[in-house]
Amino acid sequence: MEQVSWPVGGIAPESVPPALAHACDLVGSDLAAAGVVAASGDTWWAGKSALLSGGAPAAWVVGLGDGRKFAFGFGVDLSGSDAGVVALVAEGVQTHLAGYEFVEWPRCPRHRGPMAVAVEDVAAVWACRGARCQTIPIGAWSPT
Ligand SMILES: [Zn+2]
Repeated sequence: MEQVSWPVGGIAPESVPPALAHACDLVGSDLAAAGVVAASGDTWWAGKSALLSGGAPAAWVVGLGDGRKFAFGFGVDLSGSDAGVVALVAEGVQTHLAGYEFVEWPRCPRHRGPMAVAVEDVAAVWACRGARCQTIPIGAWSPT
């Protein structure tokens, strides 16, 4: 699998589909705002996967690599809406962090509870899971 990589806070190479690059941009922004990754030191990587897609062009593998203690990647189906792709990338990173790095990300800024990925209208959001007190658009996280 041919791979490309780029800084979390940088611009994805042209070979990365726009929907995927956009999703990485938004999720990376939230990761950096929360201090989970460094916008300059950590990198995304992505590659087209024939293995996952059975040859269909829609399946890509994306993940965080260089600069991280735990490099990882997961498959993303690009056939859905842009917001759907953002949700898939957010969920993939969240699942990895919870399962392998024991990092609960993100936590509700109001009362520190876990937040879940949801798609509301046409936007992917973080939704407070416990108290359901608020939603925050993915990509709009501000440092606390
Ligand atoms: Zn809350």
